[in-house]
Amino acid sequence: MADPDCLFCSIVAGTIPSETIDSDARTVAFMDINPATPGHALVVPREHSADLMEIGAEDLTATILAAQRLSRHMKDVLEADGINLINSCGAAAWQTVFHFHIHVVPRYEDDPLKLPWVPAPGDPEEIARIATRLRGEDG
Ligand code: AMP
Ligand code: ZN
Repeated sequence: MADPDCLFCSIVAGTIPSETIDSDARTVAFMDINPATPGHALVVPREHSADLMEIGAEDLTATILAAQRLSRHMKDVLEADGINLINSCGAAAWQTVFHFHIHVVPRYEDDPLKLPWVPAPGDPEEIARIATRLRGEDG
């Protein structure tokens, strides 16, 4: 159900303008107004879900498939050298619009984007400890 206070619900409904580039029964894709690279777009489910924790399996499946379709299209039409799919879940993870979306960011060999962390070996004991917790083996 649409959330009247949600920016992306309004874009899906057409009451806020967007540069829509693709749509299907469950999803809409439109250009990001603050593009990280030329062609940066967003894919959203038509139905409101706040984030990755909330979205149902059918809308999640439809949205990732639409992102793959758009990625292939960007490689063809924009001659992108690569693609990043980005989803931010929660304010701590940089989410600013709380209607689930996947960023489709076309990448070019000479673009200025950087990996947002510096890869460095972790503490093996800490890695193993966290893996134990995630497997539910602790306590
Ligand atoms: P996030 O920060 O991951 O929640 O992504 C939200 C994205 O929505 C940002 O990249 C914004 O640039 C983008 N955005 C915000 N308002 C609009 C708008 N009216 N039309 C298109 N994209 C928007
Ligand atoms: Zn919404």
